[in-house]
Amino acid sequence: MRIGIAGAGLLGRLLAFQLARAGHAVEVFDPAPHAEARADATKAAGWTAAGMLSPVAELECADANVFALGLRSLELWPAIVQSLGVPVELKRDGSVLLAHRGDEGAARRVIDLLTAKAPAAHLPQALAPAALREIEPAVQGPAHAWLLPGEGRIHTVQAMAALAWAAAAAGTRFHWSRSVERVEAGVLWSDGERRAFDHVFDVRGTGARPELPVRGVRGEVFWLHAPGVAMHRPLRLLHPRHRVYMVPREGDIVVVGASEIESEDRSPVSLRTTVELLAAAHSVVPELAEARIVHSETNLRPALPDNLPRVEMQPGLTRINGLFRHGWLIAPALVADAMEALA
Ligand SMILES: Cc1cc2nc3c(=O)[nH]c(=O)nc-3n(C[C@H](O)[C@H](O)[C@H](O)COP(=O)(O)OP(=O)(O)OC[C@H]3O[C@@H](n4cnc5c(N)ncnc54)[C@H](O)[C@@H]3O)c2cc1C
Repeated sequence: MRIGIAGAGLLGRLLAFQLARAGHAVEVFDPAPHAEARADATKAAGWTAAGMLSPVAELECADANVFALGLRSLELWPAIVQSLGVPVELKRDGSVLLAHRGDEGAARRVIDLLTAKAPAAHLPQALAPAALREIEPAVQGPAHAWLLPGEGRIHTVQAMAALAWAAAAAGTRFHWSRSVERVEAGVLWSDGERRAFDHVFDVRGTGARPELPVRGVRGEVFWLHAPGVAMHRPLRLLHPRHRVYMVPREGDIVVVGASEIESEDRSPVSLRTTVELLAAAHSVVPELAEARIVHSETNLRPALPDNLPRVEMQPGLTRINGLFRHGWLIAPALVADAMEALA
């Protein structure tokens, strides 16, 4: 089939790679100037994401469908990464939830919620201080800890670049600096030009208005360079006021995130977020005091009014959007389902 894809973010790249590999003739349109334009102000959210693959922890704000898509995707990621042909850091060593002594009430609410929503095989496991020290020796502050054993993480910058590279190698034609104004069954309009395909995918994220009531939810992250700080898995602090997590990456990098602000403001990270996130990170891992802030970034999560993913299919057209804070967690299963429906 001749397939047109509007949007070369996380979904667009993954779709292009999988569809091209399956033998389709794929063309992708995106306003970004090139495949690795991650310094661009309007870049895809996929670049900025911390890459936590956390079906259980995300149950705090997601439903059973996101959980099920997340579990399936965790199984799908290793084969996808392996088939890319370039290295992408992907780990599945679990993640750890943490709480300071004074924040036990807030933490208990989250743990009770996860315990009520997660199936028995996926419940948070309380970690005694000695057990926590053994698996995450850098964690010093928090008095309470729980392990979520099956969770994972992916290096999103490596994966975004690798997906575009592998999709192109499989025959995908990328049209960079090309915006799509409208998408209809079998047709997309790019820079005033009508282009016909057997099937089109609309995966423009926050760019999919007015066809979908999508909005952007501002998120801010920091990259710390922290050589010698032994952090092995994503750490989340259950905090009464803000959500804070730390995700280790190759090269002694720790990604600290993320604010969640109902605004489409893409301007640089605010002082308030800087103070809150970095103070919270330091309270969990005091050794981070000497880490260097090497990068900060702002982006918009594409979200629908219910903050849940939506897939709309009709002959000639599939729209996927609303991946909100779960894109990396659920994209492989969504793409597998879309490909099956196409077949
Ligand atoms: C701070 C932050 C932290 C996050 N952390 C995580 C995490 O830890 N785990 C997780 O699972 N998810 C996380 N996410 C969420 C994840 O990044 C998103 O859910 C995911 O990127 C959505 O994928 P997408 O392809 O729908 O949209 P995007 O990745 O945003 O891609 C949309 C693409 O559409 C293009 N586009 C826009 N308008 C047009 C147009 N008119 N024509 C053509 N193309 C267009 C854009 O240029 C872009 O390339 C995070 C997001 C943020 C912002």
